[in-house]
Amino acid sequence: MQRIVIIGTGQGGQQMAASLRQEGFQGEILMLGEEPGLPYQRPPLSKAYMANGNAAALLLKPASFYERSAIVLRDGVRATAIDRAAREVVTGDGARHPYDHLVIATGARNAPPPIPGLDAPGVVELRSLADAERIRRRLAATRHAVVVGGGFIGLEFAAMARAAGVAVTVVEAAPRLMSRALSPEMADWFLTLHREMGSQVLLDAPVAGVLAGADGRASGVVLADGREVSGDLVLMATGVRPNSELAEAAGLACANGILVDATLATADPAISALGDVAAFPGPLGRPLRLESVQAAVDHARHIARRLVGGASAPYAAVPWFWSDQGKAKLQIAGLLTGADRTVVLPQPEAAPVVLLFRGGHLAAVETVNAAGIHMAARRMIGCPLAQLEAHGFDLRAAMKAAA
Ligand SMILES: Cc1cc2nc3c(=O)[nH]c(=O)nc-3n(C[C@H](O)[C@H](O)[C@H](O)COP(=O)(O)OP(=O)(O)OC[C@H]3O[C@@H](n4cnc5c(N)ncnc54)[C@H](O)[C@@H]3O)c2cc1C
Repeated sequence: MQRIVIIGTGQGGQQMAASLRQEGFQGEILMLGEEPGLPYQRPPLSKAYMANGNAAALLLKPASFYERSAIVLRDGVRATAIDRAAREVVTGDGARHPYDHLVIATGARNAPPPIPGLDAPGVVELRSLADAERIRRRLAATRHAVVVGGGFIGLEFAAMARAAGVAVTVVEAAPRLMSRALSPEMADWFLTLHREMGSQVLLDAPVAGVLAGADGRASGVVLADGREVSGDLVLMATGVRPNSELAEAAGLACANGILVDATLATADPAISALGDVAAFPGPLGRPLRLESVQAAVDHARHIARRLVGGASAPYAAVPWFWSDQGKAKLQIAGLLTGADRTVVLPQPEAAPVVLLFRGGHLAAVETVNAAGIHMAARRMIGCPLAQLEAHGFDLRAAMKAAA
């Protein structure tokens, strides 16, 4: 294999290029990225970056890394088509880039609900460094932020905005916070935390439209039940949609993401997909798409081992995730999808540890500010319930006993 092209210069695209070299690939590597600049980390955009504005600290690697590793990075270039017959990627400037293998790492974009008024100045979203810069500039003059969406990004932003002295109202359509990814028990704990931080949190509160003042700027939102919430900044944080259109147009199967097999290959043996855009076989037999650094990084490493070393093992990394909200570092190991039993371990003066089981085996563990338990949980996912019960659900003790 002579030439590998990677579309997308985000977390997964960058790791893909780095892992190919680590595995010993000596051919050409070309990265094509729509965003300007070097690959950077997104997680701090809603956390530290909001407070310190330090863009240099976001870079995954300095420019010298790409030169030293002979990785050609073309930024500010959008891939517009994949010509599978010719094995070429077409870019917006009309150039054609031949590949022996193509990795699609195009990530996801925000998916605001179809409500009127979203184009009003003062309505913002948070996906890229450019978005974060825009919000930071506005935050200093913001008195009251309305956060639409009580998921991870909306709540991380809410905590940062409160710390900066901004009044915050979070409006969430579902009956609880972070409902797609968190147990009700842990979601309740975070609801209390955000209220203690001074945010107003409205649940069961779908937004019907953005309100605008006489100057046309956003002045808040109107809820489906007619209530109005005023604010001079409206952050839309209502989830994302995978950037799979390129793959779809090229005839690759897509269903909420590019469908890949257990080795993260598409049906075209010359094309793989990873990270936020890839839907891979999940534990319940259904395709699973994860929006996390861990998935993007582990996918990239797995594909690199397959392409360079010919490894054919199925992808089986334990998923893990974190979210920093105020003083709370939430960490999740495993996946709570399909969980049929919950064990809540109350902690004195702290958040509970929540263990979720599926079919008698440990499926996920949620902790707050408990790194040791989280690390043990990553090792113990899949462990039979009875084995943990024998140790009073003390994961570290069970892990030591199993070692
Ligand atoms: C504000 C924020 C906070 C987050 N916090 C956390 C966290 O705490 N923990 C965690 O695990 N995850 C977090 N995430 C999620 C994490 O950043 C993503 O899961 C991860 O970046 C996915 O990597 P990726 O390579 O799949 O996509 P991305 O990193 O999004 O990269 C995709 C890149 O592809 C580019 N692209 C798309 N289409 C094209 C095209 N046609 N041509 C060229 N380039 C294209 C995009 O512009 C983008 O640069 C956060 C995300 C955001 C936005």
